[in-house]
Amino acid sequence: MTQKQTGFRCGIGYDTHRLVEGRKLLLGGVEIASPLGLLGHSDGDVLSHAIADALLGAAGLGDIGHFFSDTDPRWKGASSLTFLETIQELLAGKGFRILNIDSVVVIDEPKLAPHISKMQETLAGALGIQSSLVNVKAKTSEGAAGASSASPMAAAHAIALLSGL
Ligand code: MG
Repeated sequence: MTQKQTGFRCGIGYDTHRLVEGRKLLLGGVEIASPLGLLGHSDGDVLSHAIADALLGAAGLGDIGHFFSDTDPRWKGASSLTFLETIQELLAGKGFRILNIDSVVVIDEPKLAPHISKMQETLAGALGIQSSLVNVKAKTSEGAAGASSASPMAAAHAIALLSGL
């Protein structure tokens, strides 16, 4: 016999992008001054991508590549906030509500502390929720993936909790 569903669903997301010269650094939809930016088909916003995957995972809807393929010319240079707006509409249409999001960005430079509030507000704005429901934390790789390493990169982890089906 199938058990009655609880009405709560969690999802996990992870993403990584290389840091290169000549690209903007966008994290959580916020542009941050940096000599290196995130390489990607879209704007390379690794945090928004991890959150997108957490939300889609919680809803049982697959992953970001299914909806926003990195070979689709429509998404070349796209703002990843538009991905989150689209996903929010998709979730709302299926009766899901976002209860909270927690996340970790892993990047060595620049320091993210001065930008965390703006990132939370910007992400929450794209998702149509209060900024108190979005938490962003920052860690470094202890130099392993910093600008002077062989392969500078940033990563992000996210978890989302939904109520709904
Ligand atoms: Mg990505």
